[in-house]
Amino acid sequence: MSAMTVAVLVEHRDGQVAGPTLENLTLARSLGRPVAVWIGEEPADDAVASLGAHGAEEVRWVELGGTARLPKVRSAALAAATTDTRIVLLTSTFLNKELAALLALATGAGVVVDASGARIVDGRVETEQTVFAATWNVTTRIVAEDAIVALRPNTTQAVALDAPATAVLEKVAFEAPETPESLVHVDPVERGEGVPLSEARVVVSGGRGTNGDYTLVRDLAEVLGGAVGATRDATDEGWISHEHMVGQTGTTVTPALYVGCGISGAVHHRGGMQASGTIVAVNLDPDAPIFEIADLGIVGDLNDVLPQAIERLREHKGA
Ligand SMILES: Cc1cc2nc3c(=O)[nH]c(=O)nc-3n(C[C@H](O)[C@H](O)[C@H](O)COP(=O)(O)OP(=O)(O)OC[C@H]3O[C@@H](n4cnc5c(N)ncnc54)[C@H](O)[C@@H]3O)c2cc1C
Repeated sequence: MSAMTVAVLVEHRDGQVAGPTLENLTLARSLGRPVAVWIGEEPADDAVASLGAHGAEEVRWVELGGTARLPKVRSAALAAATTDTRIVLLTSTFLNKELAALLALATGAGVVVDASGARIVDGRVETEQTVFAATWNVTTRIVAEDAIVALRPNTTQAVALDAPATAVLEKVAFEAPETPESLVHVDPVERGEGVPLSEARVVVSGGRGTNGDYTLVRDLAEVLGGAVGATRDATDEGWISHEHMVGQTGTTVTPALYVGCGISGAVHHRGGMQASGTIVAVNLDPDAPIFEIADLGIVGDLNDVLPQAIERLREHKGA
């Protein structure tokens, strides 16, 4: 099974390959022979080179315009590009979870979403997941021969090959199927600055304890090269937009480092961040529930603690 072909669906924005795809290619190298599947307009040379540098031997390109947004069309495109692959890896996004289900339905493959890792055991794919607000770790063996796994961002470190191969770009013959829906109009929401919250390796979040002033939270996020998160109470107050909300009804994040500032650690918030690598919490109240899951807890006023942290980090970076 070691030489089997493993397809990785490429996430791309403005022609650039997104970080989680490079993480999935790195993981794919440990499972078999990685190939990348690019759905959309023709990829630029630097995108193909970046995929090759992370292990893709081929980049299979399915040309699709706006209809690529329709899950039925997109899953058919993915199926067309993966007829010879036993394993398909995707990034766990809302759209991709639907794709994974549609592809599994069409091919009879086993499917796991929101995985944090995958390996081959006795010729079958085994995955790791954290579930129920990261209170349980679950190992799943896919008994079907074919496997589709959607992986959370930041669960594998992207590592380029020492001697990168040149990926070959190949166009896949594809005719989009008839669909019961048609796309009338697409108006993309303007993306916020920086790394998207769900993909960030560092997230600095502020809660009600910020009292509405996110300057220190933003400054700390900036010096750490991270994204800014928030609790629902903070977004409901209108202190920061809803796209920053972390938690059960917000975005689930799995960064290497999560810093929670002035956040009590309610179960609804924890459900969206508890699987983070290292958790740091700053809170005035020594009994705040967030300290139960923090690797480093600082009891103090964020208005005292954060400026010191920002200053030390800036010194350290020589800024
Ligand atoms: C169905 C449902 C879904 C929900 N989904 C979500 C969700 O997805 N995400 C989410 O976040 N919430 C969600 N909530 C809300 C959640 O239950 C909590 O109400 C919310 O997370 C609390 O936000 P908070 O920690 O900012 O506020 P609080 O609970 O009020 O905590 C503020 C904390 O700040 C500390 N503090 C105050 N001042 C300072 C200071 N100067 N320095 C340091 N610390 C300070 C306090 O000690 C306190 O611990 C949901 C609720 C429901 C019912």
